[in-house]
Amino acid sequence: MVSKAFQKTPQKKSYDIVIIGGAIMGSATSWFLSKNKNFGGSILVVERDPTYQFSSTARTNSCIRQQFSRELNIRISQYTAQFIKNFQENLEDDRVPKLGIQNYGYMYLADTKDKAKSLRTIQKTQLKAGASTILMNPDEIKSKYPFYNVSDIFLGSINKVDEGYWDGGTVFDWLRRSSIDNGVEYISNEVTGINQNSNGNRVEEIVLKSGEVINCGVVVNAAGPRASKISEMLNIKIPVEPRKRYTWVFSAECPLEVDLPLTIDPSGIHVRQDGPDTYLAGSKGFIDDPVNFDDFSFEEDLWEDYVWPKIANRIPAFEAIKVKSEWAGHYAYNTLDQNAIIGPHPSISNFMFINGFSGHGLQQAPAMGRGMSELLIYGKYQSLDLSPFGYDRILNGTPFLEEAII
Ligand SMILES: Cc1cc2nc3c(=O)[nH]c(=O)nc-3n(C[C@H](O)[C@H](O)[C@H](O)COP(=O)(O)OP(=O)(O)OC[C@H]3O[C@@H](n4cnc5c(N)ncnc54)[C@H](O)[C@@H]3O)c2cc1C
Repeated sequence: MVSKAFQKTPQKKSYDIVIIGGAIMGSATSWFLSKNKNFGGSILVVERDPTYQFSSTARTNSCIRQQFSRELNIRISQYTAQFIKNFQENLEDDRVPKLGIQNYGYMYLADTKDKAKSLRTIQKTQLKAGASTILMNPDEIKSKYPFYNVSDIFLGSINKVDEGYWDGGTVFDWLRRSSIDNGVEYISNEVTGINQNSNGNRVEEIVLKSGEVINCGVVVNAAGPRASKISEMLNIKIPVEPRKRYTWVFSAECPLEVDLPLTIDPSGIHVRQDGPDTYLAGSKGFIDDPVNFDDFSFEEDLWEDYVWPKIANRIPAFEAIKVKSEWAGHYAYNTLDQNAIIGPHPSISNFMFINGFSGHGLQQAPAMGRGMSELLIYGKYQSLDLSPFGYDRILNGTPFLEEAII
């Protein structure tokens, strides 16, 4: 394979762009920048763990949906769907695999009249934005998906176009490899400090754990759940904290007769098809507090006492199942509104955020990487206007609320 092993030491003393964090956001940014003919600058990506084993990108569930309440979030996913379906052409490389989306859809289930009303309202926004969401009453749900228990359900909503599972790992890997082919330098090191000019209105250098100090034109914070640690190096507060999310993959003694949509149970637990006879479930913990950056421990009783009973109640065939694997990962959880923070800091204009994606960052990475590259090259967004996700709303405490949060 073409990609070179990560070196620890950068080749140069100065770079136009330094990206902190080389997972999907850092790599989407470096790829869109490095392929743009209007950008001739140098790019350094600093990654503290090139195995990526604890990154959100490696621990994701890799799903995409159009069922958001904000038109902008829908447009972002629509762009990603096109990006995935034309992946080989976009990367202009016939070694890159052709990819698709497994369109089993998300099934949102409402167990109160208020939640049903909200599904109806959100559906209008989605239809207006070109999504194909349909509403189903309990009888309609039961006739298409006989395995559900719908005794407490008022309404469901589902969309089976560009909604389901996609291979985010392959997309990430090729964005990174292709960036390196385009001349981007990735190093295995950790940013431990950022130096500013004497006025405090620009960043000038990053400090590496290995001791080197590197000049930089712009710094992009793509550090995922550790984003607040990077910002704190400049005394900037961002409302992003690591929150644990658990995943279980299981097989069922009696597999379901129809592909299981990614079902959003009213309890908040989700479960979906994950292979011909396997399924994947996800949940938060008993208490959803911020956790230590290195804490990936498991709450042992969570599955037995909470998650499995809820799943078996919704899908009685899941009373006989066998867990095959499980893992915990961290959301970079934006406590203000669970939406992205992207763009420059208002008074340190060469310090950029691409943070706080909570549970929907993987599917946003192509649009966010493209948007960040536009800001860096042209000084403004050229395609989708992502300014509602700017840092100003954090300063003003004005959330950009998204109702459909998982
Ligand atoms: C369990 C789970 C399920 C999810 N499911 C979905 C889903 O179905 N669909 C969806 O769209 N999204 C999902 N997400 C969210 C999505 O995975 C994330 O939003 C996305 O991966 C964030 O990517 P990132 O590059 O911002 O962060 P990360 O992948 O965490 O990458 C940040 C990188 O920065 C590096 N870094 C940190 N600090 C430093 C430093 N000081 N110096 C150098 N490097 C540093 C880290 O090592 C890491 O590699 C899920 C997340 C989890 C945890």
